[in-house]
Amino acid sequence: MLYDTRPEELGDVLGEHPRYRADQLCRWLYQDFVLSTEGMTNLPIGLRDELADKLWPFEVEITQTGDAGRTRKWLFRTPDHASIESVLMGYDDRTTLCISSQAGCAMGCTFCATGQFGFERHLSAGEIVAQVAYANAHVRANPLPGSPQRVTNVVFMGMGEPLANYPRVVESLHRMVDVMDMAARSVTVSTVGAVPGMRRLAQTPWQVGLAVSLHAADDELRSTLVPLNNRYPLADVVDACREYFDRKGRRVTIEWALMSGTNDSVEQAQKLAAIATDLGAHVNVINLNPTPLSHEQPADRPTLMRFMEALRAEGANATLRATRGQDIDGACGQLRTRAEEVPIRVGPPARTLADPKTE
Ligand code: SAH
Ligand code: SF4
Repeated sequence: MLYDTRPEELGDVLGEHPRYRADQLCRWLYQDFVLSTEGMTNLPIGLRDELADKLWPFEVEITQTGDAGRTRKWLFRTPDHASIESVLMGYDDRTTLCISSQAGCAMGCTFCATGQFGFERHLSAGEIVAQVAYANAHVRANPLPGSPQRVTNVVFMGMGEPLANYPRVVESLHRMVDVMDMAARSVTVSTVGAVPGMRRLAQTPWQVGLAVSLHAADDELRSTLVPLNNRYPLADVVDACREYFDRKGRRVTIEWALMSGTNDSVEQAQKLAAIATDLGAHVNVINLNPTPLSHEQPADRPTLMRFMEALRAEGANATLRATRGQDIDGACGQLRTRAEEVPIRVGPPARTLADPKTE
């Protein structure tokens, strides 16, 4: 598969073909984006045919569109049957792609569809970056109404914990920034609080954004929602956020999925505001997308508003994230839920290892 090869080594897969073909191919893979090798017009037809089956490292199993064509969601399937989800969201000023870093996730957060499935495997750097390339190729072939006609922003908020797949995620960042020429500032890595990975990412040269999924502002509550909190408690996570801010000069974003009766109290809002103002962090609140295997429910409108007001009253910088693509199962892990039989399990997911190793 072409994205399995590092861009610097593409010449090696071209065998007898002249070396300059590697540069031409690299442009098609990382800058000019076509859905099939047929569109690689400056390559000889023989070579296009040779590469035809090698372009994408996955098949497109499901494509869905919603929000009047401005949201697109794909379920990709790899040859070894791993599933990969990406969601594209077009806005007036940007086109954001939400990508997956793993098939499944080992972290086992109770409210998350991906966590409920457990861990399948890491995605390779090529499988990660090919999601961005495919979305770009799709937009070129099928324009997005009223939005930039290319992926301007990438968020690692699909399936998986990116910092548990550190080396491959970093290689994918290298390709997005140095080969695709994406602005590092428009790429955001979202983590559940894998502290060693956060500290390593702080040392990388790119100004990528960091989003940290807190969901609870004290250890007692957080440990019930996010098993990894037992390994890296809140104080350690906050410390790693501070280091990230100090090294990159970039404000960290705190993610908070609001769950009715669980983390929607004014008390939690006040504790969260204290953490956020201390860090200079921005708080992104999203109302929960309910998942089939969790009893957690979204907060009702008045509670949601009360939570936002309490945050702002304490001086926190907070926005309520509009949910996109609900008509097409927009929440992470949900498209796969639809595509496969949902195993009905009682108790904790069978393969939830909460393995926070960042390699
Ligand atoms: N593993 C990383 C990134 C993938 S999850 C992380 O946890 O940050 C991306 C975001 O979706 C996280 O903020 C996560 O908490 C949130 N999320 C997961 N399940 C959700 C649900 N059912 N409703 C709303 N947000 C959810
Ligand atoms: Fe994994 Fe993130 Fe889902 Fe938690 S919220 S299970 S870390 S994908």
